[in-house]
Amino acid sequence: MKRVGILGGTFDPIHLGHLIPAEYAFDYLKLDRLLLIPSAAPVHRPKHNPASPRDRLRMCQLAVASIPGFEVSDIEVARAEPSYTILTLTALSQTLPPGTEVYLLVGEDNLPLLHTWQAIADIVSLARIAVLPRPHDAHPNLAPLEALIGEREVRAITSRLVPGPLVPISATLIRNRVRSGQPIAGLVPRSVADFIAASRLYV
Ligand code: ATP
Repeated sequence: MKRVGILGGTFDPIHLGHLIPAEYAFDYLKLDRLLLIPSAAPVHRPKHNPASPRDRLRMCQLAVASIPGFEVSDIEVARAEPSYTILTLTALSQTLPPGTEVYLLVGEDNLPLLHTWQAIADIVSLARIAVLPRPHDAHPNLAPLEALIGEREVRAITSRLVPGPLVPISATLIRNRVRSGQPIAGLVPRSVADFIAASRLYV
């Protein structure tokens, strides 16, 4: 039976805080493939100067080029409108061989927000949520999530905390550093840093 991991995000830009825990999770969860799924552009243009969906997709492709088993899916970017995870998961599961185990990776900061995700009960029936360690609030309130999917399922999710390294990098940090002329070497793959510089993103 194949195991496929999914990591969705804005990836504006992709950075080592995504890639290091995801590579660790790939081995830990014994995944065969890991799909990065950049989201479409948000309906409301955020205040920061965001990269286009095409550039975010391109940076993801550059980032995974040298990581075996990692792929980039354009399923959300191609749909143009912002997509709910449940729609993406449903569409993807129709393309995967029957019996494929799907692991939906989310950063630890997302745990206390999962109850706000559209159709979270359907999501946990399609995929096992696994958690990438990330600096976060010490005691997240998971009661609203338990009310929706039950205590047992929440325990199953929290038990799937991947014991990888904590990497205190965010896309916000990268954008801010670029805007203020600081280097981003060591925070994003070199190919991504080169792309950001050549395309004059985030300045
Ligand atoms: P921003 O700073 O723009 O809000 P971000 O760095 O949080 O962005 P996203 O693209 O929103 O990046 O994150 C996609 C997914 O990766 C989310 O599940 C998020 O929790 C997770 N993630 C992002 N950065 C890290 C990190 N440093 N460690 C672990 N998980 C992370």
